[in-house]
Amino acid sequence: MDPKERIRELVERLNRYSYEYYVLDNPSVSDAEYDSLLRELEGLEKQYPEYILENSPTRRVGAEVSEQFEKVTHDVPMLSLANAFSEGELRDFHERIRKAGFSPEYVCELKIDGISLSLKYKNGILMQGATRGNGTVGENITANVKRIGTVPKFLKRNVDIEIRGEVYMRKDVFNRHNEIRKARGVELFRNPRNAAGGSLRQLNPAVTEERKLDFFAYSIVNPAAHGLKKQSEALLFLQELGFVVNPNYLKSRDLEEILAYLDGWKDGRHNLNYETDGVVIKVDDFEMQEAIGYTVKSPKWAIAYKFPTQEVETRLLDIVYTVGRTGTINPNAVLEPVLIGGSLVQRATLNNEDFIKERDIRIGDYVLVRKAGEIIPEVVRVNFERRENTEPFRMIENCPACGEKIIKNENEAAHYCPNPDCRGKRLAGIIYFASSAGMDIEGLGERIVEDLIERGFIETIADIYRLKDRKDELVRIEGMGEKSVSNLLTAIERSKENSFAQVLTALGIRLVGSKVARVLSQHYASFDELMEASVEDLASIRDIGLQTASNVAAYFQKNRELIEELKSLGINPRAEKTVSSDLLSDKTFVLTGKLPTLSRDEATKLIEAHGGKVSSSVSKKTDFVLAGEDAGSKLKKAQDLNIKIINEEEFRKMIGE
Ligand code: NAD
Repeated sequence: MDPKERIRELVERLNRYSYEYYVLDNPSVSDAEYDSLLRELEGLEKQYPEYILENSPTRRVGAEVSEQFEKVTHDVPMLSLANAFSEGELRDFHERIRKAGFSPEYVCELKIDGISLSLKYKNGILMQGATRGNGTVGENITANVKRIGTVPKFLKRNVDIEIRGEVYMRKDVFNRHNEIRKARGVELFRNPRNAAGGSLRQLNPAVTEERKLDFFAYSIVNPAAHGLKKQSEALLFLQELGFVVNPNYLKSRDLEEILAYLDGWKDGRHNLNYETDGVVIKVDDFEMQEAIGYTVKSPKWAIAYKFPTQEVETRLLDIVYTVGRTGTINPNAVLEPVLIGGSLVQRATLNNEDFIKERDIRIGDYVLVRKAGEIIPEVVRVNFERRENTEPFRMIENCPACGEKIIKNENEAAHYCPNPDCRGKRLAGIIYFASSAGMDIEGLGERIVEDLIERGFIETIADIYRLKDRKDELVRIEGMGEKSVSNLLTAIERSKENSFAQVLTALGIRLVGSKVARVLSQHYASFDELMEASVEDLASIRDIGLQTASNVAAYFQKNRELIEELKSLGINPRAEKTVSSDLLSDKTFVLTGKLPTLSRDEATKLIEAHGGKVSSSVSKKTDFVLAGEDAGSKLKKAQDLNIKIINEEEFRKMIGE
């Protein structure tokens, strides 16, 4: 392929993966696959620097931050780390530093597989917690961070300090959550890192608390201000302040000793109660660090050595197919059961026809399977030395659920079943509708949906809301019982209160995920309004592409009857159109005290509806403090900073009431 074209394709793919990984906490490819594509891009960019694109992931950290949280500009950027995937690459790193005239001592720390976090303290009191975001701008998640047990709210000394570290979920906590989620029929967390990311970036801090996250501190932003000269001193100082520092670090000048340390942790890490995906090797001396310097993306004085992901060989017994909710035909490997990273694996994804053909995977082959902490294992490659008489793979031609001839669109890897009434598609659609990504109906998991379809209780999503009329029959199903049926029916009734955006997401319209659904609900307040929208109307909305617009319009044209049914069954949410004016655009408000008529929530909604923002603390960037009775220290601070203080009446005038 033409290198310019390949560079463009890689940048586009990697940026999409980064968005899924950092913003959605839901990656669609493994880290190893991401890393190898990134390596390919780095190689091409070195060879053809004239084709380097502005938005290349090789020059950026993380991904753009979401709009859910207030943004925080980091005083000092939060960078990424360069990677070493082999001993040779680690030796190269050491050589580069030596050639630049340094002979450093290193500190080697376990690389905790979590989410990086910045914490700011004033006078020893926790003031702000922020994510890394794109390295320069992160998200303000202070309220959530305060709910993490191992994040100290008060330090043992009254210092002003910014520190950084990693939020993570312990393996036992992760397993417990997944056991509960499985029992409730809720979608499982893929791995502890995604679970930590999702739990940290919650709008409701109580959810973060429930998820029981933990925190290891590993760096100080301005160590000189505290008289610290070395990273090893900083680690001790962090402990003195009351932080938990990972105890397994090594200080050494000797590369051979460092390599032995890495080797020990390659297997040793499986005995830890948290996930680590490598070791970070840092030059110990801060002055030397500064002299060695930085690239735009990472320090040159540190490197992350990544442990190889565990691959296990087993036999591919069969390839079976499932139908996704949008009709995608997904090939899956049936494997001779094998233990990977402590769990028994019998199924793995084979993604699509191209994936299988590119790797020449055949039924009967011995294949290498990778799990890398993720719930969904993947077949990586074939061990050709053990190949016997196997037949080349041939994709099926008909849908395994309904028998319709399957099709493949140009530029897409997956095959689809085009039959709108396909049973498999319908089943997957109903499962998705009820899942945590959709209506989040507790107790209505995959197995139960299948069972209820099998027994003729449900055929469409609307039937879910008719189950309450068949309670007596449900109770008689083996294994259901009075209590679980009544819990299920309560959960179904409760789901009627879901927001319009959530209901739209649950419908599973192609290309309409939670973000697009939210945008739609900001412009159309109900099914009735949305059903009247034309493709042109929809496509004129910023953030809605033409393909999405035509999918939405086509869906409502085809499913009018179903929507009317849902409405008559009580699923007819109304969204508050959030964008009603821009009277307060770019204005930041802080609320304090008790307002005469508005609750805090109502005031926040009004401010946001008129384009303003609400922040939790007063700073120079605050435009107005909306104050009521019994206002506290925020009022005092606003007076000190000369910020305009207004009461409810003045506020109402501002928004034209
Ligand atoms: P990174 O995770 O490789 O390294 C930087 C991070 O390491 C820091 O931000 C910090 O949070 C963390 N860290 C943990 N322990 C540390 C310690 N003791 N000292 C210093 N830092 C420590 O880099 P990144 O830029 O966050 O992410 C890149 C990696 O993320 C890739 O290598 C890839 O594996 C993964 N990724 C995967 C996908 C996907 O779709 N699967 C997408 C994007 C990125």
